[in-house]
Amino acid sequence: MKKILLLFIIISSFSNAQQRCNATEKLNEKLANDPVFREKHNRISQLLNRSDVSFSTNSTNVVVTIPVVIHVLYKTAQQNISDAQINSQIAILNADYRKLNADFSTVIPSVFQSFGADLELNFVLAKRTINNQFTTGIERKLVASSFIFDNNYYTADGLPAWDTYNYLNIWVGRFSDTTLLGFAYPPGALGLPYDGLCIGDQFFGNTGTATAPYNKGRTATHEIGHYFNLAHPWGNGNGATGTSCGVGSNSDGVADTPSTSAPYDGCPIFPDNSKACAATTNGSMFMNYMDYTNDACMAFFTAGQKIRALNALNGTRSGLTTSLGGTALLGTKDYDNNFVFSLNPNPANESFVISSPHITIDKVDIINSLGQIIKTKQFAQNGVAIEIDDLTSGIYFVKLYNNNKMLKTERLIKN
Ligand code: ZN
Ligand code: CA
Repeated sequence: MKKILLLFIIISSFSNAQQRCNATEKLNEKLANDPVFREKHNRISQLLNRSDVSFSTNSTNVVVTIPVVIHVLYKTAQQNISDAQINSQIAILNADYRKLNADFSTVIPSVFQSFGADLELNFVLAKRTINNQFTTGIERKLVASSFIFDNNYYTADGLPAWDTYNYLNIWVGRFSDTTLLGFAYPPGALGLPYDGLCIGDQFFGNTGTATAPYNKGRTATHEIGHYFNLAHPWGNGNGATGTSCGVGSNSDGVADTPSTSAPYDGCPIFPDNSKACAATTNGSMFMNYMDYTNDACMAFFTAGQKIRALNALNGTRSGLTTSLGGTALLGTKDYDNNFVFSLNPNPANESFVISSPHITIDKVDIINSLGQIIKTKQFAQNGVAIEIDDLTSGIYFVKLYNNNKMLKTERLIKN
């Protein structure tokens, strides 16, 4: 009898197959194991969650273009997804983040439609690298059969991130846990090598290897929500009931998304209060992109989520708003193409020196992992030592200028 019961439990857990999103698990893992991330995440969360601070500039109706780089990591020809599959995902993002998705009016109940928001974000495949070289915004790599996409996507065995201040990095591959759809890191990961999102190729775009019921590109829509600081409607808890439901870390910090205790999946019938913290006439907003329902059964972000996401964009992730990554190069003879320089030593302890054979670096900004300029130096000639013994250990970015023109951003590690 015990054996039969055990078998039943095993079968039950397998039948509850797909895991929509591992963002909470990944967040908790990095909070536990990466002190740099923990410190930044806690500081940034405090700042972005303050109700008296707003970085939003959405009143001007400016659509911000986000440069995207797609890193395809494949083991088989099938997993080396087509440009058409990638382009289908970009088109879906541009519908979903502009509230132009055709299913908005059919999937969103009429009582919820007025909550819907145009997040005013436009996604483009990168048109130039950080070094001002032409790019399609798509990188592909055949990885070893032993490669674990889930954990090693951003390492040298996979494909390292492009400058996370200037690009949204998306890795597409086959998770070894094939039930996992995707995950992303919140803004606290900015500047860290794993910042961005990971999506299983079977859940990317709406053609090629995309597989029902996750074949309408909503996994990337959802994960980019996390990247811009949106949480699940139940927060980072799971199954929080009673007085803790919808409170503190069991809340998404957004007033117009009703609090729930746990994810909805499949395609519930409206209205549904089965996971609501408190039953209401309209029930839970299970058709929100940040829930776990099927791709065909989610279709909007709310105005409250827009404020939170734009705070993240215009605060921590503001490098994206000024990035040239999505702007095409004008001509191949742009002198930036010939810009050669060195920054030594790196990692550095006391100081470093920048040299360039072609041009005088007459100004340097040192930027911390929160995107703040913490030091600016101006020079009349190359080769002057820049003191950094007052900086704490960690990762910094050094912006190099000539005549007020920014030439290059280089990563610096201070020991
Ligand atoms: Zn999620
Ligand atoms: Ca809420």
